[in-house]
Amino acid sequence: MKLLNKRAIVTGGTRGIGKAIVKELVNNGCNVVFTYFSSDESAHSLEKELSNDSVKVFGFKADASSFAAADETVKFTIEKLGGVDILVNNAGITKDTLMLRMSENDFDLVINSNLKSVFNYTKAILKPMIAQRFGKIVNISSVVGIVGNPGQANYVASKAGVIGLTKSNAKELASRNINVNAVAPGFIETDMTDKMNDQQKEAILSNVPIKRLGKPEDVAKTVLFLCSNDSDYITGQVLTVDGGMVM
Ligand code: NAD
Repeated sequence: MKLLNKRAIVTGGTRGIGKAIVKELVNNGCNVVFTYFSSDESAHSLEKELSNDSVKVFGFKADASSFAAADETVKFTIEKLGGVDILVNNAGITKDTLMLRMSENDFDLVINSNLKSVFNYTKAILKPMIAQRFGKIVNISSVVGIVGNPGQANYVASKAGVIGLTKSNAKELASRNINVNAVAPGFIETDMTDKMNDQQKEAILSNVPIKRLGKPEDVAKTVLFLCSNDSDYITGQVLTVDGGMVM
């Protein structure tokens, strides 16, 4: 129970890595508001599955790329949970294609969903966190934000931007007792990577020293560490969870 009675917001929490993060936090005693984009049904079933007498779990429908929606999420969380101690910026999308074919719309969409969303939620949460002189912010980046990847210029730019935002915010907020770190997953088995064929997966595995794709739980456990007091002296870091692919 590393997060007993803490209060968290997790963006994009109804599936994949976000869902695993919500479960890991809840299993450690944390009350959670998770946001979701479309499916009311999966949000309600997750609320039902995880809520119990000692932990509160709420879904909140909000587009992470909207500044106003981020503000509404924080207001909702304070109303339901009484405050916010932890923010996990997880929501993200891909719109992959070569630069030559990439439309302006697909560039904007990915930057707004993956990078501006982190600005939106961090900005919305700052005043309450500063007032209570405590906070843990974890931003989900990607290893491709460190090394680049063909066919993903928009996604890579957004994830590299997340790393820059993380480091600047870490420097600005350390004196307020707010830690800001990033997690950079490698290839994790979720809907996002399901689009790849076996040949593509084999090619990736040949570069992964720990010969398997990652599981959402591998990322969630790292996020738990960065949300807990075990990481109090760590800020501005990018922790790769990639089976050793990037080192
Ligand atoms: P996923 O597609 O399974 O889940 C993404 C979640 O984000 C979904 O619940 C989706 O509804 C939500 N979302 C997307 N845009 C949103 C928006 N504008 N507002 C609110 N919610 C939104 O993907 P995943 O693999 O679980 O990815 C989670 C995070 O991890 C993403 O930021 C992704 O870029 C990152 N990541 C994933 C991998 C991987 O291999 N799966 C690798 C590196 C980084």
